[in-house]
Amino acid sequence: MRSRLPALIVIGIVAVTVIAGLVVGAQRDDRSGPVDLVVLNGRVFTGAGGDPAEAVAVRGSEILRVGSNRDMKRLAGPATKVIDAHGGSVVPGFVDGHVHFMSGGLGMDRVNLLDAESLDAIKKKISEFAAANPGRQWVLGRGWYYSPFPGGLPTRQQLDELVPDRPAYMTCYDGHTGWANTAALRLAGITAKTPDPADGVVMKDPGTGEPTGVLKEAAMGLMSKVLPQPTREDRLRAISRASREASRLGLTSIHEAGTSEASLDLFEEARKAGSLSVRVYAALSVKDGMTEADADAFDALRRHYAANPQIKVGAVKVMADGVIEAHTAAMLAPYANNPTSGHANYTPRELQRIVTMMDRRGWQVMTHAIGDGAVRMTLDAYDAAAKANPAPPAGRRHRVEHAETVDPADFPRFGQQNTIVSYMPFHANPTPAQLTVWTANIGPDRSSRGWIVRTMQQAGARQVFGSDWPVVDLDPRLEINMAVTRRTAEGLPKEGWLPDQAIALPDAIETMTAAGAYASFDEAKKGRLAPGLLADIVILSKDVFAQPPERFLDAVVDTTILGGKVVYQR
Ligand SMILES: [Zn+2]
Repeated sequence: MRSRLPALIVIGIVAVTVIAGLVVGAQRDDRSGPVDLVVLNGRVFTGAGGDPAEAVAVRGSEILRVGSNRDMKRLAGPATKVIDAHGGSVVPGFVDGHVHFMSGGLGMDRVNLLDAESLDAIKKKISEFAAANPGRQWVLGRGWYYSPFPGGLPTRQQLDELVPDRPAYMTCYDGHTGWANTAALRLAGITAKTPDPADGVVMKDPGTGEPTGVLKEAAMGLMSKVLPQPTREDRLRAISRASREASRLGLTSIHEAGTSEASLDLFEEARKAGSLSVRVYAALSVKDGMTEADADAFDALRRHYAANPQIKVGAVKVMADGVIEAHTAAMLAPYANNPTSGHANYTPRELQRIVTMMDRRGWQVMTHAIGDGAVRMTLDAYDAAAKANPAPPAGRRHRVEHAETVDPADFPRFGQQNTIVSYMPFHANPTPAQLTVWTANIGPDRSSRGWIVRTMQQAGARQVFGSDWPVVDLDPRLEINMAVTRRTAEGLPKEGWLPDQAIALPDAIETMTAAGAYASFDEAKKGRLAPGLLADIVILSKDVFAQPPERFLDAVVDTTILGGKVVYQR
């Protein structure tokens, strides 16, 4: 049957439809394409001091809009993926500003003793791993603390009991002491007659003269020679394993603190295979006596990765000193319990030469400087470079890694130079095992300037946070928790360690996100939840701003989104 609708009404309907079509069309043009993903019902962190929003819309790899549930629902179409944040905080993807991703990934395939606080726990972990991996020629592990062992050091007999049938070797959490069983010592040819190498000790039993299984500092090199070297496949597996762990923990970017062309090739291979789920900012390791020709090769590598969507080469890593725990960090004055002042790996002149050479070529310099002497020497080198070279277009953003204790005279120099302090707050985790040695070695005055996040903030220094994984756990929540509470995850000590140095939760989250983007010259691309930036987004299981900051660790990562793609869901 034909329509009996009067002609006028038909014309009217057509007209309305056409006008409506034009309006919709205009909106579509404005939006130019579909919305791929929306996150609704969140408490969206838009920066310290910013107004929280409820929802985020993503198109392709970028954030399209941040706003209310109502607005974002309107943007969603039938093909839009909708994620309900269930009232949890929505924050930018975390950036680990200092990590050893490759070695961390390799370490995931070994016994991890970082959370073993008693001798029984250590024994249990090692024997379980050995039982679960009968085919491995070696049982390797890392992360033990000195305190669970009677007298502060382990013995080969203890390890023989757990792994009697094959070589076993475990390095200490600080990387300065090794623990071998008898089979491993035999393979390495270490006997009662083995002399101490320069800068190292092969511990011997005072009664029998036999090696105890403990190798200190350079003596660990005797074992490294016979350890199985990871294959190319092992390394690729390490990258994908570490990527999965990073995504689980909400990390979307990492700064690889010291790497090589060969390792970058593997990162690139992993990226092409789809198993690299973080953005990598790489710092190339500087060799002793680095020449202009070496620097040319670095420049070429930087160019090679210039257009890479996930890997960026922009920094060089310099090791200026050692660590306080081993009295090898370079101090301005002698240690409190040892006549040495530590040891800088460079003369001031040589450090200035290398820094100036790389600064002139537009590299960011990341200098590992832990003692106050090394920190000053580094700042001096940055000053010298600034004097010798014109400022690069994006400005100078050199970095001091660790800066575990800084002389007050140097506080303002960071801000003046725009030098970034790269802190690992969780290294200050105030457990007896971790902090006692550190504090005793430098005494109360210099200890009072340990990881002084707030003082440096007030002195105008930009900061970035990192884990230094595998030295400690990769979880960025531990860095944030330490920065806001100055207490262990268990809340100890109750009064906090240097509690005046605690910062506010929004500041800590910014330092673990936006500041990380700034530290790799990427603040125009990522690090915040704002339109046009990369959709690197983390949804937490709770609204962390609605609860006391000391409850931060109650929240876990529910969802991690990298460039608009969900890479982890709990
Ligand atoms: Zn490191």
